[in-house]
Amino acid sequence: MKRVHNFSAGPATLPLEVLEQAQEELTEYQDTGRSIMELSHRSAHYEEIDKQAKDRLRSLLGLGDKFEIMFLQGGASSQFMMAPYNFLSKDQTADYIDTGRWSDKAIKEAKIFGNVHVPFSSSEGNYDRVPTQEELNFSDNPRYVHFTSNNTVAGTQFPTEPETNGVPLVCDASSDFLSRPIDVDKYGIIYAGAQKNVGPAGVTVVIIRKDFLEQADTENVPTILRYSTHVEKIFNTPPTFNVYMVNLVLKWIEDKGGLSWFKSFNEEKAQKVYDEIDADDFYRGAVEKESRSLMNATFRLPTEELEARFLEEAVEHDLYSLKGHRSVGGIRASIYNACSMGSVDALVDFMSDFRKRNG
Ligand code: PMP
Repeated sequence: MKRVHNFSAGPATLPLEVLEQAQEELTEYQDTGRSIMELSHRSAHYEEIDKQAKDRLRSLLGLGDKFEIMFLQGGASSQFMMAPYNFLSKDQTADYIDTGRWSDKAIKEAKIFGNVHVPFSSSEGNYDRVPTQEELNFSDNPRYVHFTSNNTVAGTQFPTEPETNGVPLVCDASSDFLSRPIDVDKYGIIYAGAQKNVGPAGVTVVIIRKDFLEQADTENVPTILRYSTHVEKIFNTPPTFNVYMVNLVLKWIEDKGGLSWFKSFNEEKAQKVYDEIDADDFYRGAVEKESRSLMNATFRLPTEELEARFLEEAVEHDLYSLKGHRSVGGIRASIYNACSMGSVDALVDFMSDFRKRNG
């Protein structure tokens, strides 16, 4: 077996231990004589997986009993629609902080349901930064404040939650979910597509505060698109194998030492990459230093020709999926939880060597 260094932005690298356990159990899950994929979602075995995954999320994030957890389909993109569908109407306003391609998509969806006020946008600077607290110009009485905690395409990340003086945050945490501790009390909803930090593509983790859920206005919302439907019970067939995988990843996160452990680990990895970028002016960070993401490090080389050569030679060193998002170009190294220190060291060594030969 040969595994490469995988810097894909998502679906992203998964812990080898998790893949191996899944491989071991693939054809026979526990004593069932069947794969987990072949078991009913109403079976005791699946119910136990669902419960374990939710218990683990509760404990890792410190959710207590104030939050409900759902495993939904439709990707994070469906949450762009589902959150305002449940919480925003024509006579109401929600504030949406615009820090990237995904925020912008969330804004477009929210506008279908109600008024959107944008308290800050970095679109004119090609989304090269997130706002400081002082720059956030909130509306008078927003229903909620939506933000994208990590901007996967640009490579920026909020260092901490924006302060909203009690207005619930609705957060697209797709690309930094469980990468560090967060202040859960500030959130009404946290949603994340699994395919970066917690599992394979096909399941979206949605966490909702109970007292916020009570304020939802869903009279005209189709049953399957109401959060309350999924909170009450497992409503329809969930992506069972994906939830099984998420549960294995959550166990792996716990075993490593939880979110504080990952915070330090992710900071150390990112520091190595950014130190290499900042060593001289051969590499150029694509965003402002204060806004840099610990998950997606984006940078440029002196010319596009050199960038193309960098990507070509990287593959020869088993360094894969380093091409920046098609809308921005350049290089992007996605170094989520499951990206090992060994992979980061291999990348940094290659960057250093490439600079010596081409700088
Ligand atoms: N939000 C963010 C921050 C993302 O990075 C992505 C996917 N790259 C999405 C939303 C969209 O997720 P999905 O493809 O699961 O709908």
